[in-house]
Amino acid sequence: MDRKMQERIRLLVDGQLPEDQVKDLIRMPTKDPDRFWTYLHVLQERVAWNDTILLRISEHLYIVRKEQGGRVVKCDCGQEFGDYRVNWKLHSMLAVRKTKEELEEVYNAGILPNPEHLEVREFYCPGCYAQLGVEVAPHGYPIVFELLPDLDSLYRDWLGRPLPDESPDWYQDRSATLTAAWAEEDNP
Ligand SMILES: [Zn+2]
Repeated sequence: MDRKMQERIRLLVDGQLPEDQVKDLIRMPTKDPDRFWTYLHVLQERVAWNDTILLRISEHLYIVRKEQGGRVVKCDCGQEFGDYRVNWKLHSMLAVRKTKEELEEVYNAGILPNPEHLEVREFYCPGCYAQLGVEVAPHGYPIVFELLPDLDSLYRDWLGRPLPDESPDWYQDRSATLTAAWAEEDNP
């Protein structure tokens, strides 16, 4: 692995790479073919756990492969959010802003969503209390599942290194299985 490139990627991930060097990376006429693997290596070095990072999906969250099998969403603090095919937000702590007063705490300049129709949902990690996501949605609208990547296609077709646990079962939204189980608990 190119040490110099690894250091640049590390600085890039930390937001400390000078802007001119960021532009150099973007404008490289021939992109470094190992750049994704270098990026994963840098990410893996930054976390205290050993599960293999398959993809970073937000500032704190990763999809990882567990040694004993399974692909789960995991926070950099180590908190796990279950199978990545189920919206991780369903396993997070949720705070909802519904009133004008609650919305004014986070919106300034008097421009805010109309609380008659909309609410702001904030999702937090139960392990480290980091804010993991925010969405604005109509009251009663299902929790938004923002990212369900087709990891097998990414690794096989785009990166040329198929994952060892490839299966057509992975690329499926399973969120409804969890909400159906909750409904079952409420109405046995
Ligand atoms: Zn966390």
